[in-house]
Amino acid sequence: MEAFEYPIAPVPRTAVLVPWFSAGGFAAGVLRPRPIRVFRKGWGPEVADFAPAAIAATWEQWQELLRVPIPSLTHGVIVVWRPGQERLTEADRDCLWDAFRLPVFEQVIGKSGELLASECEAHDGLHLKSSRLPIDSEYVDASPCPCGQKTSRIGCSQGTAMLRRIAAYAR
Ligand SMILES: [Zn+2]
Repeated sequence: MEAFEYPIAPVPRTAVLVPWFSAGGFAAGVLRPRPIRVFRKGWGPEVADFAPAAIAATWEQWQELLRVPIPSLTHGVIVVWRPGQERLTEADRDCLWDAFRLPVFEQVIGKSGELLASECEAHDGLHLKSSRLPIDSEYVDASPCPCGQKTSRIGCSQGTAMLRRIAAYAR
């Protein structure tokens, strides 16, 4: 199983609330604990004690977390999906912003915790990280991303506009 990958550096103290990844703890050859910890059972007092600055959870879990005061949460809101699931809408993002006032990053995670697509700090689409993600129905944007990564992106604002146009023609 692979470890959770935080979208940007430096990695803050992060709680991962799904059991899709290898457990945190000590990285090979590193003497200090990694700041990322996996809580296989989701949110609970143990996670609150860990005082995460960032949390990775499913959108379903985030909807619950909207009602939980998490004063330690100061860095990032990461929404993890399985391939084929609907991604966040603008309204969903507004909802997270209103609650936390933090950058939102989406990630698509495959079997064994493999990172398939990941949102970057430019927040315009998800960079493709693996050819194992089916992208048949996606508009793929290969234009350079302001973040500097060279990989193509799905779910870009331009792509969304284009898909809407294609849908309009198809009617
Ligand atoms: Zn980027």
